[in-house]
Amino acid sequence: MSALPPHVAVVGGGFAGLAAAIRLARGGARVTLLERRPFLGGRAYSFTDPATGDVIDNGPHALMGAYTAALDFLGEIGAASKLAFQPRLHVTLADPALGLGAVVAPRVPGPFQAPAALLRYRLLSPGDRLRLLVGAVRLAARPVASLREHTVAAALAMAGQSAAACARFWHPLAIATLNEAPEVAAAAPFAAVLRKAFFAGARAARFAVPRVPLSELYTADAQRALERAGGTVVTGAAVATLALDPGGVEAVVLRDGTRVEADAVVLAVPVAALLRLLPPALRHVEPFRALAGVATSPIVSVHLWLDRAVGWGAPFLGLLGGRAQWLFDCGPATGGGHRLASVTSGARFWDAASDDEIAAEVLADATAVLPALSAVRVRRTLVVRERHATLSLTPAADAVRPGVETPVANLFLAGDWIQTGLPATIEGAVIAGRAAADRALLAAVSGARPEAWQPVAAGV
Ligand SMILES: Cc1cc2nc3c(=O)[nH]c(=O)nc-3n(C[C@H](O)[C@H](O)[C@H](O)COP(=O)(O)OP(=O)(O)OC[C@H]3O[C@@H](n4cnc5c(N)ncnc54)[C@H](O)[C@@H]3O)c2cc1C
Repeated sequence: MSALPPHVAVVGGGFAGLAAAIRLARGGARVTLLERRPFLGGRAYSFTDPATGDVIDNGPHALMGAYTAALDFLGEIGAASKLAFQPRLHVTLADPALGLGAVVAPRVPGPFQAPAALLRYRLLSPGDRLRLLVGAVRLAARPVASLREHTVAAALAMAGQSAAACARFWHPLAIATLNEAPEVAAAAPFAAVLRKAFFAGARAARFAVPRVPLSELYTADAQRALERAGGTVVTGAAVATLALDPGGVEAVVLRDGTRVEADAVVLAVPVAALLRLLPPALRHVEPFRALAGVATSPIVSVHLWLDRAVGWGAPFLGLLGGRAQWLFDCGPATGGGHRLASVTSGARFWDAASDDEIAAEVLADATAVLPALSAVRVRRTLVVRERHATLSLTPAADAVRPGVETPVANLFLAGDWIQTGLPATIEGAVIAGRAAADRALLAAVSGARPEAWQPVAAGV
């Protein structure tokens, strides 16, 4: 064994790669993080809008108290105070015909807050609220194995949920968490969300939104923490492929031909990028072969610059009755006026629509529930389409999500698409990144094959 600590290459500078790299560096490895783009942040990033100078997110992101790994990661890099938490669960939704309603936790002891919130949701009849609560308990209590083949829509039908409950509660929640239509989205990770977020106590059920633009939330702090622990970040470094020898991965090879020798490698890139950089010898080996059939699902965000503020007394609002889904209050705009941003998941229906058509539809849906918007001048709209926002989490895709280990002894996988039992979220990305780092450290230090990795949330 060389006198130097082992060297681990981490490919990808999103939440998963950064969490992995910091864990590795703190564990004593020499770490090089390689990111293709000129900046860190992956699919959760912000940029400066050239027309206004405002720094805006690629799409509004929300976290929850249940994101224990992600919150721990933000604490580890000194960024925890950049999140604004609700004191208690509070989600406001608005229906054009019925007005505003809120799923809001009352001041009752912790574990009862989220369930009690469902019983107070005025957009449903008292009978539907009770069935909602019973259905949520039933769904959360079902063994994961019994849900594996079912879609969210099928599981909700089995749990006796009414059309109104689906339209005004279940479907908005499922689409937001799974980024896919309930008719095709997998029920198992949805039930995991209910268990981990809704029935895990008052703190878990709270939402948090960043106080700062997304990139500012974590990228610079994570880079600093990594460098302080002795790691190196290289941006603008696109990995083209891996150099294999009979013992495993020998090096990663950049597009410009540079070889980065490594004792272990963590690939923390999205599925399509992973398949592009795999050497042909691995493409037809499981778990990689099955990944070729995994599709992605888009998220479309619309940023709105208004000449004055229009609020609803909360950081975000669920829009019911149309196709636009959530509206976020982004606060004052740089040049005066106010900014809002909508986010719509599983938004394939807008694939062929123009930006102007999408912005007009979002404004119409928002105005239907916030009439004050009709009196406001919209100064600018900007549509951001993330065509491959997350994997399309169908039961079939969920079944082929791999763990962090691969058949190559010193090659590990990370990213929100890894089988954590959870949907593809920031929390899943951090869990997978840290799990990959733990395995990579063992493999790099000892060359030993670590124990089989178990999905953390499955079967909880
Ligand atoms: C609009 C939108 C809204 C979202 N809202 C939420 C939300 O509210 N809450 C939530 O929890 N999640 C949300 N998500 C999901 C969340 O953003 C992702 O789950 C998370 O950012 C994924 O992190 P990751 O590290 O797994 O992957 P990524 O962030 O995609 O990181 C992968 C990195 O690898 C790099 N890379 C790719 N190929 C190569 C290569 N060949 N060489 C070197 N580098 C490479 C990429 O450039 C990228 O930086 C949202 C996503 C989008 C798009």
